[in-house]
Amino acid sequence: MNPIIDIHIHIQPLHMFKPHALKLVQQGRKDYAEVEKYSASSAEFLKFLDAAGIERAGLINYVSPEVIGFGPDVNDWIAKYCSAEPKRLLAFGSVHPKFVPDAGAEVERLHSIGIRGLKVHPSHQLLAPNAYRDGFGPMAAMYERAQALHMPVMIHTGTSIFPGARNLYAHPMLADDVGIDFPDLVVILAHGGRPLWMNEAFFLVRRHKNMYIDVSGIPPQKLMEHFPRIEEIADKVLWGTDWPGPGVPEIEKNLVEFHALELSQNAKQQILGKTALEIWPA
Ligand SMILES: [Zn+2]
Repeated sequence: MNPIIDIHIHIQPLHMFKPHALKLVQQGRKDYAEVEKYSASSAEFLKFLDAAGIERAGLINYVSPEVIGFGPDVNDWIAKYCSAEPKRLLAFGSVHPKFVPDAGAEVERLHSIGIRGLKVHPSHQLLAPNAYRDGFGPMAAMYERAQALHMPVMIHTGTSIFPGARNLYAHPMLADDVGIDFPDLVVILAHGGRPLWMNEAFFLVRRHKNMYIDVSGIPPQKLMEHFPRIEEIADKVLWGTDWPGPGVPEIEKNLVEFHALELSQNAKQQILGKTALEIWPA
């Protein structure tokens, strides 16, 4: 039995949110006090993972000064948080190439403080993931350095309802260029383009040998409808919840519903942990 890995959880510095963005996270959450507790203490969060039967978690953070409120110090915050148990808590940070003087050097810095993956959030960073094609050099430097350091890059794909989010940038097809120009870079298309662009995401992971999707933010009962051929690409799929994002009630319920899907045991094991384990063996 492989360990279960939730590759997409948002443990974030709540005090850095813009008020209207935080409101969207709080809205309708009966468990918001728990979210606060876990954000304040990795020891408490590890207990929560134990209770849910989850071995490891990707903790997603990204720089988004305009839309969400996070500056580059979000990276230092999550690196410190995960330092309690870096094998179980995979720190994701980000380099916003518009807000650092040297994007390549910033990738090196994040790598040195323990960041295990980079998040690119085009609709919250107001930047297409292939903007380097139009001459935006710092973005190319970011991908190049990540590729050289074997640091996976997770690119948000699919819609976002946060005020100010620009959804055009979150179309998965914009990541095709990244697969072409940085063939050795591991790229994870977060949310598999849901709820509009799943066919495009399916095409891309089959086209590019180092491209993957995560299924976070997709209600498990919708998964087979969104990806009817998911069995064929199980080795390119990572399980994740996007908890506590808007519309994601609880992790354990998601897991129970995932187990109930009409998928082979092999595919389930692959998606729940094996794919992530292949990317982050330690
Ligand atoms: Zn997310």
